[in-house]
Amino acid sequence: MAKYDTIIVGAGFAGAVVARELAERGGEQVLVLDSRAHIGGNCYDVPDEYGILIHQYGPHIFHTNSEKAYRYLSRFTEWLDYRHEVVAKVGDEEIPVPFNLNTLEQVFGGEAEELAELLTAQFGEGARVPILKLRESEDERLKKIADYVYENIFLKYTMKQWGKTPEEIDPAVSGRVPVVISRDNRYFQDTWQGMPKNGYTALFKNMLDHPGIRVKLNTDARDVLGLTPGTERIAYEGEPFEGNVIFTGAIDEFFDCRFGRLPYRSLRFDFEHLDADRFQSHGVVNYTVSEEFTRITEFKYLTDEWDREGTTIVREYPFAYSGAAGEIPYYAINNSENDALYDRYRELAERAGLILVGRLAEYKYYNIDAIVDRALEVAARII
Ligand code: FAD
Ligand code: UDP
Repeated sequence: MAKYDTIIVGAGFAGAVVARELAERGGEQVLVLDSRAHIGGNCYDVPDEYGILIHQYGPHIFHTNSEKAYRYLSRFTEWLDYRHEVVAKVGDEEIPVPFNLNTLEQVFGGEAEELAELLTAQFGEGARVPILKLRESEDERLKKIADYVYENIFLKYTMKQWGKTPEEIDPAVSGRVPVVISRDNRYFQDTWQGMPKNGYTALFKNMLDHPGIRVKLNTDARDVLGLTPGTERIAYEGEPFEGNVIFTGAIDEFFDCRFGRLPYRSLRFDFEHLDADRFQSHGVVNYTVSEEFTRITEFKYLTDEWDREGTTIVREYPFAYSGAAGEIPYYAINNSENDALYDRYRELAERAGLILVGRLAEYKYYNIDAIVDRALEVAARII
């Protein structure tokens, strides 16, 4: 086992960035394990049987204000300039999301100009106002806007996604899609945004292609890593392992849920291939007042593969993760009770010497750029 300096569980962005850094800058021999048959974690993409590049675990669009994350990933990919716009289907209309001054005009017609002035005077041009904050407005006209946005964009979508109302979930979650006081229809306002030119999987291949990195797929860490009885320290294939172990998976499951399960939301993805050039008006259409699914993604918009025949779409159906075989935990459900339970697992993991990085291991939502920054920080500290 002296062969490896570090073992990393998970070949998603958290694991792959740490692996590359330790191998390249730290001169380490790194073993990366993943239970899946592929690298890339949830950002994995692959051509479907019709040759159309799909995101198997849901649509991923890269966007960031972190120059560091952007420059780092740019070492491993070129970018396709993609401007992500989303509309919500409300009755027969499609309205821009996040709700902005264009949406206001579409919805409120003649009144919109006055309302836009009011919003701008209250919050400032370009402001990003969380819906829960807008709902606190005293002014009746602002309240009217807030009620419209709440009822037509947030309430049903959030009920589907989380099984809870916007007030019952972590405010940071609905805050990710604020009311924007501008005429910018882009879903993200970040400085850098786009899609990896040859896809995410190709990006990962480049990142993990280093003589110091060995990737072992189809290997669940629970089958090869364990606690040495008595010491509660990590052992690999039965032998105490002295190097660092970076863990990016679900930490409760690694410890057999001994304190109980950490709650997550999961998703069922229903893919459909259609014999048409195009199915919908935008890459993503959110169903905010109807249907059981939350949104439909049409991949050709994201990947610019318009020269392919037919089109592939995916519908997302959220549900409560139960831990049953085949289910995937996607979203941590952050609240004080769940975070306290997570802290118990974190303490246990830290005592065992595990370094926790990632969306599952840290039980928190990370966008790609944030997890890249975090992984770079962790790697720098280790080196
Ligand atoms: P993951 O990608 O989940 O990787 C963890 C890896 O660990 C997996 O490959 C898993 O198989 C492996 N693993 C877990 N347990 C074990 C074990 N016991 N043994 C071996 N291997 C194990 N971010 C954006 O910036 N833009 C977007 O548009 C965007 N869209 C998203 C859409 C959805 C539906 C979701 C759920 C997330 C989205 N994100 C998006 C967030 C993005 O997916 C994460 O930032 C990113 O995947 C985090 O990487 P990670 O390495 O922490 O986790
Ligand atoms: N949301 C909503 N309606 C929308 C878009 C978002 O209610 O049309 C809420 C919902 O609660 C969602 C959250 O805002 O979970 C964050 O949205 P985002 O698009 O960031 O979700 P993700 O891409 O992470 O699924």
